[in-house]
Amino acid sequence: MANDSKAPEGAHITNFIKQRIEADLASGKYAQRRWGGKPGKLELHRDAPPDPAKIRTRFPPEPNGYLHIGHAKSICLNFGLAKEYGGICHMRFDDTNPEKEEQEYVDAILEAVHWLGFQWGEKDEHLYFASDYFDLMYEFAECLVEHGDAYVDSQSPEEMQRHRGSFSEPGKDSPYRTRTPAENLALFREMRDGRHADGAHVLRAKIDMASPNINLRDPAIYRIKRATHHRTGDKWCVYPMYTYAHPIEDALENITHSICTLEFEDQRPFYDWVLERLAQHGMLQRPLPQQIEFSRLNMTYTVMSKRFLLKLVQEKYVDGWDDPRMPTLVGAHRRGFTPEGFRLFAERIGVSKSDNLIDPSVLEDCMREHLNEVAPRRVAVLDPLKLVIDNYPEGQTEECFAPNHPQKADWGKRSLPFSKEVWIEREDFAETPPKGYFRLFPGNAVRLKYGFVVRCTGYSKDSDTGEITEVHCDYHPDSKSGTPGADTYKTKGVIHWVSAAHAVEAEVRLYDRLFKVATPGKATGNYLDDLNPDSLKVIRAYLEPSLKDAKAEERFQFERHGYFVAGTAGDSDASFIRTVTLRDSWTAK
Ligand code: ATP
Ligand code: MG
Repeated sequence: MANDSKAPEGAHITNFIKQRIEADLASGKYAQRRWGGKPGKLELHRDAPPDPAKIRTRFPPEPNGYLHIGHAKSICLNFGLAKEYGGICHMRFDDTNPEKEEQEYVDAILEAVHWLGFQWGEKDEHLYFASDYFDLMYEFAECLVEHGDAYVDSQSPEEMQRHRGSFSEPGKDSPYRTRTPAENLALFREMRDGRHADGAHVLRAKIDMASPNINLRDPAIYRIKRATHHRTGDKWCVYPMYTYAHPIEDALENITHSICTLEFEDQRPFYDWVLERLAQHGMLQRPLPQQIEFSRLNMTYTVMSKRFLLKLVQEKYVDGWDDPRMPTLVGAHRRGFTPEGFRLFAERIGVSKSDNLIDPSVLEDCMREHLNEVAPRRVAVLDPLKLVIDNYPEGQTEECFAPNHPQKADWGKRSLPFSKEVWIEREDFAETPPKGYFRLFPGNAVRLKYGFVVRCTGYSKDSDTGEITEVHCDYHPDSKSGTPGADTYKTKGVIHWVSAAHAVEAEVRLYDRLFKVATPGKATGNYLDDLNPDSLKVIRAYLEPSLKDAKAEERFQFERHGYFVAGTAGDSDASFIRTVTLRDSWTAK
């Protein structure tokens, strides 16, 4: 495989899931599967042609919130594996819970997966909704009832809870466990037909109340719930439980490798039980899908739980789900993070079963790496101080030339106008230089990058505040960068500048981490106590004139400052957002 020059990103790095898939492909485990052109039960697939997809994976979000960085890991993994092994990854909404789901989230999720660079089939044809399988899930439940594999329990929820047992104690059989299939079927149909109140009965799998795995102690598979579903409306008043629905969704869709996070490990025996029974009863095609667990991504300085994120939005600690400080993919997009950076990140953090607590600097480094390649260089002064070149002719302007990318000569150069007054960064001047300071101070010479060498001759100061108001210097007319003899001038300091007469004034938003400690809430129990008060600074900056024409979402490196993205609709005009600084300033803290 290593000699395949078209191997997708990350193809050379292996992990336990890839090894499983490779072993399955080598043994031909899934080669006999047939595909009836759409999800369905055995009847549909049985006489159809062989499945053209070597493997099938799926990304199955619940449409009850915006996707976050953790989801990006799962998306890159599932879509990435399908791509690498000649398979297909299905985009499936796990919308079996009627109460929490909304169309707004469905749209946002599809957009986010596209944005990350993935498609569900060549023409996005593999878009599925778990709710479309309600009829089959119901039919399968009746099938389990008829075969004595499920029964209607009429204990109260409290009784059921009490009889469940504990880790050290076996559970107790329900008095209703001995109902006959005919009784169960009649009752289950009454449940479906709305003849019983919410919670009056549940349908349970009949497995083993003494199982050491509590998840196998006759788990509920259907409940009565009068709720309007976002797609099926009021058609149903019984809904399948997630742990019953999920394996069926996978099997109907011919999924081969059902990849999920580690907390479902103890559910795997039930996943297998449901599918095994239904296959025995002739409902599902074999071989059955297999569930494989990996550890979820957690990130320091971040909260990722939907509940916590919702509170930040609702209580206006941030400016919506797409606030650039949010760990959501919409937020990351607005921040200027790139899909390529995310894919690199997913590859770099890898997949394992051990704890996965990642520092944000890992993600930021991936963004830097990609942006370094794609972002043209520009000059911007973020904390301006006026520098007056006293011996430069009044009213004169000339062009200096700066490369668009230091390593990519073919990107060409742009012109920077130079004139008598320029803006420099306030920190590039010192009245009394600290030790090792090579920038501008009285008597010292520096190079104005891409321009001239200047020597500081003096400065003025506000007598009340003590603030430096203006710095003065003289320039050497024969020192212009790129002209013959320019390098006879040696300076230790090089600083950037923007001509005051030509600068574009703009709002720049400097975002930083939303939380100031690695584990928000660790000290007080309330993550809100650890919000970083400096996570947003809004400043007015002076930019080189070419930035006037920047289009929304265009990305640049502002030299010495970091990577910036031009604001999108919704941000104020001529505004830029700092995506990430050039170097990590947190790890050292
Ligand atoms: P949350 O706990 O943040 O609400 P969730 O698991 O409830 O997340 P789903 O919509 O069910 O969200 O997730 C869709 C898929 O994304 C699942 O397959 C889940 O395993 C995966 N996923 C969710 N969070 C993470 C994470 N932090 N790391 C890796 N995968 C994740
Ligand atoms: Mg979930």
